[in-house]
Amino acid sequence: MSVTGTLVQSYAVCPRQAWLMARQMEPEREFELLVEGRLNQLEHYERSMKEIELPGMKIDRVRREGGRLVFSEIKKSTRYLPAARLQVGYYLLRLREEGIEASGEILVPKERFREEVELTPELEEKVSETVEKLERLLESYQPPPARRIRYCGKCAYAEFCWS
Ligand code: SF4
Repeated sequence: MSVTGTLVQSYAVCPRQAWLMARQMEPEREFELLVEGRLNQLEHYERSMKEIELPGMKIDRVRREGGRLVFSEIKKSTRYLPAARLQVGYYLLRLREEGIEASGEILVPKERFREEVELTPELEEKVSETVEKLERLLESYQPPPARRIRYCGKCAYAEFCWS
């Protein structure tokens, strides 16, 4: 089971959620989505797309600004903003490892919210820490116990955890 951007975000919300999600996720499907992805639809970026075919990344939208690649992660609400920053940071780190310098932005159209995300040394450290912890978690045969947090109400696993 490998780390994906979605799992990084989930882990930041609730490690148990990330564990449960990882058991349900189909990594090949995520990879296919990436290959077919919306990135590909923008002919400008077809070459870039080929260069960044990375499993575990599903980027919502990408454009070029100056010489730089800027991608957007679109969210439904600002509720999970710290987790979304980590997810975007994870993508930026993966892209950098592939030799692609990019920046990211989080868009929440419903709230007319936009935030730029750069891979600062602080964010990079946080992402690396999270990935390490997540990798350890994914090796475990048992999910962490359920702990009631403010995100439980909207979580897809609420019934499973609390019924
Ligand atoms: S319901 Fe709560 S404890 Fe269970 S996975 Fe979701 S966020 Fe975590």
